[in-house]
Amino acid sequence: MGRQPLWRRVDFIPQITYFKPTGVPLANLQEIRLSVEEAEAIRLKGLEGLEQEECAQRMNISRTTFSRVLGSARQKMADALLSGKAIRIEGGNFEMAVRRFRCNNGHEWDVPFETMINSPPRFCPTCNTPGIMALWPWGPGWGRDGRGRGHGGGRRW
Ligand SMILES: [Zn+2]
Repeated sequence: MGRQPLWRRVDFIPQITYFKPTGVPLANLQEIRLSVEEAEAIRLKGLEGLEQEECAQRMNISRTTFSRVLGSARQKMADALLSGKAIRIEGGNFEMAVRRFRCNNGHEWDVPFETMINSPPRFCPTCNTPGIMALWPWGPGWGRDGRGRGHGGGRRW
């Protein structure tokens, strides 16, 4: 695998991650998968109204890459909206701006984006146990379909 791919920085993960048109029989329903960073691109550009340059900086990617992610997101949303497809938001190459960890002994701490990318934590900084897990975004309403997104960060999605 070598070095990790580029991790995009994401500040926000939507609570609702599945959208489904009415009136389409389940058997005929097609699904589109929107990655978390595509959703973030839509949020920064469409909701916060930032310039592409600024969006790219916020996500720690080049403007060209941002443009591609945004274009892909828009294309998928247009397809879903106009063809009556469901949208599922999940996966992608991203790290949260801040990720909270907890160890088996109950210590909690925050790990910033830059640290997550360069040297993700392996031990609790307080008691040094390797028994640690990321608490978020795997909170209520996220990942409840339980398809085995193990601990250790969202990297294998
Ligand atoms: Zn600890």
